Amino acid sequence: MSVEIPPCVSHSVLVKVKAAGVCHSDIHLISGVYDMGDGRKASATDGGRHLPLTPGHEIMGTVEKLGDGAESVGVKEGDQVIVYPWIGCGACRKCLSGKENMCEGAAAFLGIIRDGGYAEYVLVPNARYLVKANDMDASQSATLACSGVTAFSAIRKCRLHSDDLLLVIGAGGLGTAAIQIAKKTTGARIAVADVDDSKLELAAKLGADYIFNTSKLAAGDLASGVRNINQGRGADAVADFVGTPTTTSMGFRLLGREGRLLLVGLVGGAVQLPLPLFPLRGAQIAGSFTGTLAELVELVELAKRGVIAPVVSGTYKLEEANEVLSRLARGEIKGRAVLKP
Ligand SMILES: [Zn+2]
Ligand SMILES: [Zn+2]
Repeated sequence: MSVEIPPCVSHSVLVKVKAAGVCHSDIHLISGVYDMGDGRKASATDGGRHLPLTPGHEIMGTVEKLGDGAESVGVKEGDQVIVYPWIGCGACRKCLSGKENMCEGAAAFLGIIRDGGYAEYVLVPNARYLVKANDMDASQSATLACSGVTAFSAIRKCRLHSDDLLLVIGAGGLGTAAIQIAKKTTGARIAVADVDDSKLELAAKLGADYIFNTSKLAAGDLASGVRNINQGRGADAVADFVGTPTTTSMGFRLLGREGRLLLVGLVGGAVQLPLPLFPLRGAQIAGSFTGTLAELVELVELAKRGVIAPVVSGTYKLEEANEVLSRLARGEIKGRAVLKP
């Protein structure tokens, strides 16, 4: 589809897109719903989306044009930048505390509410949402804006100690980022569960200490496998990057005392959990959605130093977006697919 290049109003920046990552949540955006379980659905786009909308929230590009006032932020035309897409209203309590990704007002998430990066150009409403990324690989760095910062924020919320065991469920785009981040920044030991041997092989290459193919293990065998590698205890933290009833129930069951289960994946559904185990084991469950601008800045620094290197499975033309989304929905993409306009 062809649309006009948006006018560059004051403070805004027109970015020429070099790479746009294809995220699993784009599939939700296209279907328009989240599966809340028991046949219930919820809108994936509450908050004033207007159709047609250009998806794409993992955007890297070059600054094409600066609106009035945007110069003061320190980016200049020609700079290569990663775009922070989780733009909030700027006025609510969450935005004022730096958590625009948790905005309580009228958020303006790029590629979700406003036009995003599956395009030649994207308009960013304020230059402060640009993170300079000169000399970085375009495809790899694009993925930092969603899968990277989502994994980074989730691992931080796991509050890992160096002698902890973290279980990562799902070794896709998010999981592979999380394995590298946890390995390089926490010192915890990392176990990874997935149903695909080739994804588990990749997880091992990226630093996973233990891998489990859950399609080949009975539930009891997985639990004893986790205890065997953690001195008889359950996992200290579980990060579920899939988010189905099966993975979440499994993650909860595998927690040790005071274990923390972080729900990140949005595949959907509902679960029943045995309530006495929360107090008896001191279990905690929390959700994590993307990350803050400050976290993205921190993560980009780590990537520049080579601490993490996002896994890009392939680059595709913009016209191939629908095919790539179908393959992602079928679980055929390892790491991240990136569109290059
Ligand atoms: Zn995403
Ligand atoms: Zn807000």
